[in-house]
Amino acid sequence: MKNRSEIAEEKPASSPSTATPEQSSVENALAAQKPQASFEERRGNCPLCGSARISPFHTITRYTAHFTVDRCGDCGFIFMNPRFTEETVRGFYGEEYYRGSAEYSYQDERRAEKFHRHVWDARLAVIRKFIKAGRFLDVGAAFGGFLGSLSHNFEPAGIEPSEFAGNYARRRIGSLIHVGTLEDHFFPRDNFLVITMIEVLEHMADPVFALKECHRLLQKGGLLVIQTANMEGLQAQLRGSRYAYYMPGHLSYFSRRNLCALLKEVGFSRIKVYHPVEFGLLPKLKKSRGSFRSILDYRHWVRITIYHMLGKIHAGNFCVTSSMVVYAFK
Ligand SMILES: [Zn+2]
Repeated sequence: MKNRSEIAEEKPASSPSTATPEQSSVENALAAQKPQASFEERRGNCPLCGSARISPFHTITRYTAHFTVDRCGDCGFIFMNPRFTEETVRGFYGEEYYRGSAEYSYQDERRAEKFHRHVWDARLAVIRKFIKAGRFLDVGAAFGGFLGSLSHNFEPAGIEPSEFAGNYARRRIGSLIHVGTLEDHFFPRDNFLVITMIEVLEHMADPVFALKECHRLLQKGGLLVIQTANMEGLQAQLRGSRYAYYMPGHLSYFSRRNLCALLKEVGFSRIKVYHPVEFGLLPKLKKSRGSFRSILDYRHWVRITIYHMLGKIHAGNFCVTSSMVVYAFK
């Protein structure tokens, strides 16, 4: 499902913070014509550890639909509370989201696929160090670009909740694309050797179920790859409610610490965490060219390089940026 401006390193050209006042007022006027966002009942305990020691942490007001995130005083998990109703969330993931034309939206990778491929190939090279071949599931497969870059050693399958994106992926990859969710798929247990969830877990209302389900779907020795923000990173802490990762579609915000603890709890035996990502700077620079509009955009390489280098500064649970990729083995 992945958004633009993931982990706040690639700021979208039309993000609310960079929109001109004129643009914002037009967007707000348009948004005002849409049905109001509605909320579930506020929950009284932490979805991760069950603790009742939860309290409001930030209220995010830069989107048309305002929302509050709570933080658990015991495990540090941050989550939207109350959550938008399913109907409201579905409204976020319409065609405009996947075309990249909504206020809150995904970067439509089909336009810049040859650039994205640099990152996809770099990630696959690391995965192949551990798993050489087998059935491969991408959860949040979008248009199937990542699956389309797999070598013949892997058999691709995907889960994608958007009919618009998922049907496109199915035409491209085949019948093993399930248009739906981890709750209603048709895959048997102990089926996959690799499962990837790249910038997907934060969208899930019940991430505990999602990780249990991934564990069930993996064969023994199989690998789960997760990319999501680490909210204990200094970057997230310093920016507070202004941190770009707080978005209407993001319901669950992990830290390195509580994500690793949860993975152990659901049965993963070995966990490896990469900061900022599991591959080098070059693929990121090459990918960024996909959104460049003029030669001047090469100046973004300075920011991306600094961000990448800062991401390498970490010790134990401390790290400077909030980027992390987790490899968990069953
Ligand atoms: Zn908790």
